[in-house]
Amino acid sequence: MKIAIAGYGVEGKASYDYWSKDPQNQLTIVDGAEHPFDVPEGVPTVTGPDAFKQLNGYDLVIRTPGLNPQHITTDGKIWSITNEFFAKCPAPIIGITGSKGKGTTASLIASILKAAGKTVHLVGNIGVPAIQTLDDIATDDIVVYELSSFQLWDVEYSPQTAVVLFIEQEHLDVHPTMEDYVAAKANIARYQTSKDILIYDAGNTYVQAIASQSEAIKIGYPSTLTTHVKDGYFWNGEQKLCSVDNLQLPGEHNVQNAIAAIDAVWQYVQDGQVIGKGLADFKGLEHRLKIVGKVGDITYVDDSIATTPGSAIAALQSFDGPKAIILGGSSKGSDFTELAQELLRHDVYALLIGKEAAAIAAACDRAGFSKYKVVEFTDMDTLVRQATTLLNSKGTVLLSPAAASFGLFKNYADRGEQFIAAVQRLS
Ligand code: ADP
Repeated sequence: MKIAIAGYGVEGKASYDYWSKDPQNQLTIVDGAEHPFDVPEGVPTVTGPDAFKQLNGYDLVIRTPGLNPQHITTDGKIWSITNEFFAKCPAPIIGITGSKGKGTTASLIASILKAAGKTVHLVGNIGVPAIQTLDDIATDDIVVYELSSFQLWDVEYSPQTAVVLFIEQEHLDVHPTMEDYVAAKANIARYQTSKDILIYDAGNTYVQAIASQSEAIKIGYPSTLTTHVKDGYFWNGEQKLCSVDNLQLPGEHNVQNAIAAIDAVWQYVQDGQVIGKGLADFKGLEHRLKIVGKVGDITYVDDSIATTPGSAIAALQSFDGPKAIILGGSSKGSDFTELAQELLRHDVYALLIGKEAAAIAAACDRAGFSKYKVVEFTDMDTLVRQATTLLNSKGTVLLSPAAASFGLFKNYADRGEQFIAAVQRLS
């Protein structure tokens, strides 16, 4: 088969390794950069800004997730490693999507299933690239797959259990419209049948629209019929499961993620003690609402992955008392109106940095929130010190920027690491 590997980053390399195993395949590497890195010797390339428009004559074009399928011109079939994984995976898949909470919820699901003694494969952005695990998966294992809108864009399969967490404006730098973004997410349920299960955030209008088109057995969360919280305990219907305190993650939004996770595993695990242990075993992911230092009465929280207004709102709601929040960075096309309104409800001061500072400041002005300052980012030590001095020796410094990191940092992880290092230098 003649195969074009379209986009040669981490996923493109995983695709190359996978399809090059069959000596019958003739592979070409295609990339928008003139000189993609690490191209194996002797492999033909098509490169440059128009590379993806020149793909006639290939049987398969393997699209990397961030490449819009509409930007590819080919008379062959556009395919992806997500599609390949769904086509070949021998075990049932629990797929998780949504704007925020995918990684956390997928990890909670995997943790509960492991506590129940299952063999679990956690794949996607937080786990390993799915395709690399295919050979290790047995039929009675369970795959937990974190799925982004980019992976779902042209997917032709849906998982047996789909979880759709809350959806807000995001990735509008890559998706042409919000409709396109939601339509991509909707694919997680599109091919489900009446035997499959869809767990969805019943309070979110985008998610309700996805659920209304689904043929699967639908579980809107939270619901008193399924998983919910009462008197400090998780319940499923009439069955008391375990204390909410088992959850090691701060914030009401993580309680919602845990509810979705329990609904997702319910077909496999109904023992409250096992569920409690699974929840307690998961201590949280790096750069997600993590307390990374305490100096005197000031707590420092690294939430660098909070790249959307919704996640910054969730962070504000997770800590009581006075707060200083660092907001801003590069654009993802977000609307900051709700975030500015949320700021009004807290004893908080906002430091605004990066390209989005102006847009956030404008939203604050419209909302009547004046406790913000636009600052030039020079280095993280200065920024952390500026945030600290706003607090009067008591409260929480939150790095929940509601924006992407590019321009000022390599990526969200780099931003978080720099924050952690600056906090460590304080004490
Ligand atoms: P994703 O994998 O979808 O990016 P993560 O679980 O890694 O999501 O969490 C990313 C950020 O979103 C963190 O800042 C986290 O606190 C926040 N977050 C997680 N779940 C939710 C939720 N249900 N609602 C709002 N924000 C959330």
